[in-house]
Amino acid sequence: MTIAANQQPPAQPEGPRVIDVLKVKDNLYVLSSSTPGNAATFSGGNVAVFITDAGVTLVDTKLAAWGPAFLDAVKKVTTKPVTMIINTHTHGDHTGNDDKFGATVDIVAHESTKANMERMDAFKGDKAQFLPKKTYKDKLSLGNGKDRIDLYYFGAGHTNGDTFVVFPALRILHTGDMFAWKDAPGCDRANGGSCISFPQTLAKVVATIKDVDTVIPGHSPMQTPKDLQEYQRFTADLAAHAQAAHKAGQSVDEAFAAFKVDKYPGYKNERVKASIQSVYDELKK
Ligand SMILES: [Zn+2]
Repeated sequence: MTIAANQQPPAQPEGPRVIDVLKVKDNLYVLSSSTPGNAATFSGGNVAVFITDAGVTLVDTKLAAWGPAFLDAVKKVTTKPVTMIINTHTHGDHTGNDDKFGATVDIVAHESTKANMERMDAFKGDKAQFLPKKTYKDKLSLGNGKDRIDLYYFGAGHTNGDTFVVFPALRILHTGDMFAWKDAPGCDRANGGSCISFPQTLAKVVATIKDVDTVIPGHSPMQTPKDLQEYQRFTADLAAHAQAAHKAGQSVDEAFAAFKVDKYPGYKNERVKASIQSVYDELKK
């Protein structure tokens, strides 16, 4: 036996980037491959592709580096042109390809998300033409009848400009990263996010958006309204736990060690410590 025979085969070169496509309804698809962690398969957040008489609306546009694979995935599900993009929030894994569909596309986002995007290098100079052209404060309806889309803003959470996108005729809600995964929320304080406000914001969503059956989360497989309600309870538990631990003078490590996710089936605690840290930082101010 030669030494070479004992060696591991060389790592495979990176293959073509492929984005998984899920048909949720005849006229709504989700482009996934959205679970963070592995750079070879993480294309950015879940994208909704809504095909209407007037054209195609995208909710979010993944990472810039995944542009070609993203455009291919959109072409796979429709030959109609993209006429509107809704950004759930400012992050680059949700806004990375806003510039790939031409300057006439209507880009829509919450007013605070537009302000956050204006500070991103990706939207400076020539790219400023791809900043949102339409913004709103609390609620905005786009289109009519079966093509109507409702946008809601309920307060700070992941950022200070998170939009909840509802397709009423399809009974579908896209939450962006206000429900990214079954783990602690990420709260981007530099963009106005708040892990303390997060559960209060989600409580308003649960109380207001009732006529949906399917929830498209930011970075995980399809969920139900029940899952969203459970997520609201989870984030409320976590925020209350962190605030109580802070008040009791515990360290972040102590607060993390004392928080159990066991009563939430399928939940992970990979982001719990960062979320508790975020609450502590918020209480410091
Ligand atoms: Zn995000």
